Parts: sequence; structure tokens; C-alpha cells
Amino acid sequence: MGFIEGTTKKDEVVIITAHLDHLGKRGDKIYYGADDDGSGSASILAIAKAFVNAKAAGAGPERSILIMNFSGEEKGLLGSDYYTKHPVFPLENTVANLNIDMIGRVDSVHLSDPAYTYLIGSDKLSTELHAINESANASCCNLKLDYTYNDPSDKLKLYYRSDHYNFAKHKVPVIFYFTGLHADYHKPTDTIDKIDFPKTAAIARLVFNTAWQLANRPDKIKVDVENDFK
Ligand SMILES: [Zn+2]
Repeated sequence: MGFIEGTTKKDEVVIITAHLDHLGKRGDKIYYGADDDGSGSASILAIAKAFVNAKAAGAGPERSILIMNFSGEEKGLLGSDYYTKHPVFPLENTVANLNIDMIGRVDSVHLSDPAYTYLIGSDKLSTELHAINESANASCCNLKLDYTYNDPSDKLKLYYRSDHYNFAKHKVPVIFYFTGLHADYHKPTDTIDKIDFPKTAAIARLVFNTAWQLANRPDKIKVDVENDFK
């Protein structure tokens, strides 16, 4: 964990996560996991650096920022399950979890329109979180925000499939940032040469700006939506 202590509201924490594990080796085949989730785990380090730099310049966030790279995601969200059952900072003081899992690629739907990200979960527990992410995007990044996988009837059920879900289960508002499945998903061919770095950086910037607003707004965001997922 990397903890950047807030200035005036340090007991309230915004948690930014990704996962460090992937599938490892099968026989002599290496599963690199450059997108899943090298893209996210590298992004959260860059975001951590930006917060640390702001703090060093005397302009640190008012609330605290916790950066966590989970392990055991691929084995069933084990790291986030453990953390949410044994939280280091009380979950009632946890403002939100912004989780990045696979943001380094462009999927087949967006080949002509690569400046996008899928967003999953942003409106499930807090209307404020959804609005803050949209306004952060308008002010910093101008990515196309694609909510296709946010639909509860979506067959892939991605809302349940990465670490943020363990926070949502505990009524901590979440956003899952994701650029879609592709032919190299969970294959040895998920390699770094296929990563779109400018796109990855643009989404990391959106996550930073969203976290910045969550950390510095006067009031902690409210949980005002009944979670419609089981
Ligand atoms: Zn993943």
C-alpha cells in the first residue's frame, strides 16, 4: 500500500487500485498480462507519483489517498476480499474505490474512435460519484465515456469481475475503468508491444482528476442509491 496523508480531512480515504498478479506460467508458456493488469498497476504508480508531487509542492489533497496493487485477483478477487474484510482504514471513512483493470488496448467496437473508456459502477451507489467523474472528464480529458457494460442486463457481468466489487459489496462507491476484452485476453499474447501508451496515460489522468475532486470537495460523497446488483 502507498498512503498519501491528506491535509485537513486525513481520516477520509480515497482508494485507487489495480492488480499486480496475472496467470503466471503454464508449462513453458509465459502469460505476460501487459494489459491485464500491467496497464492498471503501472497507472496507479503514476497517479501516486502525481499526488506525491502535489503534496511536495505544498498542494496535497485534503483527504488521504491510498494506492493498492492487489494480488490474487485472477484467483477470485482474493486481495480485495481480504482488504475489505480487514480494512486498514475504516470502510465507513472510505470515500470511494477507483479501480483500473485493463486500460491499455482498443477493442473492436472502438477502432475508429480510440479515445474512450468503459465505465462500470459509477452510478450504482452514488449519483455524486457519477457526476464527479463526468465533470472531471470534461475538464481534463474529453474521453468518450462508454457505459455499455454498466447495464445490469449485460451478459458479461463485468461489474462483479474485478476488485472494486468487494468494495461495492460493502457499500463503498466504486468506478471500474476498463477498455474492453480482446483476442489476447488471458493468452500468452497479452504483451507490452500491443499497449497503447498515450491512451493508457489519458485514462490514468481521468482517474487522477476524479480522485482529486473526491479528495478536495467540501463534503464526502453520499451513498444515495440502492445497489441493484445481488
Ligand atoms: Zn484483470
